[in-house]
Amino acid sequence: MYTRNIETIIIGGGAAGLMAAGRAAERGKNVLLLEKMGQTGRKIGISGKGRCNLTNTASLQDFISHFGKNGKFLRQCFNQFFTDDLVSFFEARGLPLVTERGGRIFPQSGRALDVVKTLNLWLEQQNVTINKKAVVSAVTVREGRVTGVICNGSKLSCDNVIIATGGKSYPRTGSTGDGYKLVTELGHNLTALRPALVPLRCKDQNIQPLAGLNLKNINVRLYVNGKRKVQEFGEIAFTTTGLSGPVALTMSAAIVDFLNKSATIRLSIDLKPALSDQQITNRLIRDFEKRGGEPVESLLRGLIPSQLVDRCLEACQIPTDIDTRAFPIKMRNKLAGWLKNVPFDITGYCGFDEAIVTAGGVNLKEIDPQTMESKLIDGLFIVGELLDIQADTGGYNLQAAFSTGWLAGSSVSS
Ligand SMILES: Cc1cc2nc3c(=O)[nH]c(=O)nc-3n(C[C@H](O)[C@H](O)[C@H](O)COP(=O)(O)OP(=O)(O)OC[C@H]3O[C@@H](n4cnc5c(N)ncnc54)[C@H](O)[C@@H]3O)c2cc1C
Repeated sequence: MYTRNIETIIIGGGAAGLMAAGRAAERGKNVLLLEKMGQTGRKIGISGKGRCNLTNTASLQDFISHFGKNGKFLRQCFNQFFTDDLVSFFEARGLPLVTERGGRIFPQSGRALDVVKTLNLWLEQQNVTINKKAVVSAVTVREGRVTGVICNGSKLSCDNVIIATGGKSYPRTGSTGDGYKLVTELGHNLTALRPALVPLRCKDQNIQPLAGLNLKNINVRLYVNGKRKVQEFGEIAFTTTGLSGPVALTMSAAIVDFLNKSATIRLSIDLKPALSDQQITNRLIRDFEKRGGEPVESLLRGLIPSQLVDRCLEACQIPTDIDTRAFPIKMRNKLAGWLKNVPFDITGYCGFDEAIVTAGGVNLKEIDPQTMESKLIDGLFIVGELLDIQADTGGYNLQAAFSTGWLAGSSVSS
């Protein structure tokens, strides 16, 4: 059991907690990290499809814009520890990074587990004590100041507590939402918790055959109650129940909120965004001239992925035995229109089990943005996804976890 006089206890060994622990220890604090799982960094280990997109080269202004209206809360934090600092941090510890499309930064090795390994080694070098399978059930407070925590039923005393328990998405990684109970018991308030960066569901009976299909370089328009709202260029992936992939995930935060207000949602996919309506028509005319006589399915497979052929025939009411040498102009125009507008009605979204992040969290008005300390309890710090901050995909969420963790670790005093 732990014997040194503990100055700082960190609850949770994810991105924010590991960074907070190492940083506080680097400043000479006696640090104890309590992690409920058998190992630290479970979520980092599966992030970025196992490759960990740990940050992004976007400018500060652009970076902050990816967090929506709450992004401004992070400005002071990012002024102290931002992308360059994170990149230097890992590279100085022997983990080279690479920048990919969209400014996304990954470990050169392509292994998220190398990020976890680097952090764990750093904590070891800083003499951080890590207790695994250590579940914190309460933070104790006397006269407005933190006094310790209750862990596995025992009281541990300390001067400061940093809560870094994450959100409630992907609970199998340990992020089961415990932090919400810990902070509300201390008087903190939460904004509404919703799954974000979450796959979308379609009622469409014919969605299942599309599972596994990835559409790249497409344009997706979002219609809310029939009105066009935003559009995104990129990639969509079909699941057995609906849509996922970067564009669907990015749009999901707004869609979840609209669906919760009972709005009707339609996503319209432009399969040929580089071509104008006229260019599409010209292309079809050429194809029918050149390949007239072939079965219509074979002709369509030259235009669209084969999984979409049946859907296209049905939507454009094209008989499978049509003579493609005499394709009616009206039908050709319908086909041209469909290629620019393949509609999917979104009727729901998956739960926290499949959400990349949790939207909502500790009300930012109750946290000092210069230190991450609670404005309600002295010596209490709250960091990472537990806060009401969430961003698009692209490395923004992990940078926010690392930066808020670093800032809290830099701010704890005894
Ligand atoms: C599949 C997936 C892929 C992702 N990919 C990316 C990506 O590539 N880039 C990116 O920027 N973001 C990505 N994210 C989001 C990012 O991983 C999270 O936003 C980030 O890890 C949050 O860090 P955190 O430290 O706040 O919380 P977490 O990483 O969730 O860590 C919380 C820790 O606290 C522990 N804990 C919880 N309760 C207790 C308790 N009572 N006592 C003790 N310990 C406790 C948990 O076991 C866990 O280890 C991804 C998320 C998922 C689910």
